[in-house]
Amino acid sequence: MIPPLMPNYNRADLAFERGEGAWLWDAQGRRFLDFGAGIATTSIGHAHPHLVATIAEQAGRVMHTSNLYRVPQAERLAARLVEATPFADTVYFSNSGAEANEAMVKAVRKYHAANGHPERYRTICFEGAFHGRTLAMISATGNAKYLEGFGPPVEGFDHVPFGNMNAVRQAITKETAAIMIEPVQGEGGVRPADLRFLRELRAVCDEFGLLLALDEVQTGMGRSGKLWAHEWAGIEPDVMSSAKGIGGGFPLGATLAREKVAEHLKPGTHGSTYGGNPLACAAGNAVLDVILAPGFLGQVDRVARHLWRGMQDLAARHPAVVTGVQGAGLLLGLKLSDAVSNTEAQGAAVAEGLLTVAAGMNVLRVAPPLIITEAEADEALRLLDRAMLRITPGAAKAAAK
Ligand SMILES: *Cc1c(COP(=O)(O)O)cnc(C)c1O
Repeated sequence: MIPPLMPNYNRADLAFERGEGAWLWDAQGRRFLDFGAGIATTSIGHAHPHLVATIAEQAGRVMHTSNLYRVPQAERLAARLVEATPFADTVYFSNSGAEANEAMVKAVRKYHAANGHPERYRTICFEGAFHGRTLAMISATGNAKYLEGFGPPVEGFDHVPFGNMNAVRQAITKETAAIMIEPVQGEGGVRPADLRFLRELRAVCDEFGLLLALDEVQTGMGRSGKLWAHEWAGIEPDVMSSAKGIGGGFPLGATLAREKVAEHLKPGTHGSTYGGNPLACAAGNAVLDVILAPGFLGQVDRVARHLWRGMQDLAARHPAVVTGVQGAGLLLGLKLSDAVSNTEAQGAAVAEGLLTVAAGMNVLRVAPPLIITEAEADEALRLLDRAMLRITPGAAKAAAK
């Protein structure tokens, strides 16, 4: 019989009662080091006092009023995001990454239609991408596994190999509106785009009058060591989505755009009942207080480099299990050998008290809260080392000798 809670996830048999910073405790009092951060989402850690106090205070005043009225918390959050993001002139708020991407693609299509080119509605996407689970976003994602059984895909998404500039150029037609890409493919295997490739995409968009649409749902809000991952390439998109870390665990999505892209989304063209409500935006402002505080992103960069070096050492110590380290900032992946699976590695890490997240291409993803210390990174490395020993083929027998 189907359980009351729809069984559409593969859940580990763990439930947490309490968290603090990078740590979680289950009902039996077992402590776990959380280097998954609820899939790169609890950006400033569990139970951050400033976020908790802000949410409690706002919940006690007013949570929701709808977009029939002004929302001062949203006006403030939008102004701060625009101020911190050179290309962005304006922000639309929603409740998730998929919704932030939907708004992004709708803005792109509206832009070309309003400029007399309704035939330009197609978006070039990349193999291995992940853009969310709505009907349009599984089409943008393009992964056959996610499309299976859901009828015809939404029209207007073309897929080319990640990093292949010739394929991008060949895919451009008179109907192309935009190129949409994650600076680091998260779900797809923690695969960073070459910085040169990102710069070439910007150039090809300018050459053909296309919009560059970045999905920074996972890479943004400081995860890369800069506020936005595209800053490492020295480029600016025309429109960009953010979610996951932006609410620190409270559901919030955002679509940041240039004026020329957003100006055609007039009243009645797009919207959301919850989107950008007082509670969500209070949470967003509290997260931003922490992430934009002087020195915070510099510390993320330092601890990320420390973790990167440690993971390189880890890979060198476990050549039968780990074949490489990839990613950027605090979004890192251990590429595993064919001898082991990432779900096996994830289970071994849990057995050692460490939470991680599996990603595509047999990668074990490490995406801790941005507030971790170097000591916590070292502790995670120690636990990962023991987890890799657990799954090393033949290691148990060798140890027993
Ligand atoms: C998680 C993710 C999404 C989808 O976000 P939801 O909040 O689950 O809708 C979209 N794009 C990227 C890059 C993501 O990592």
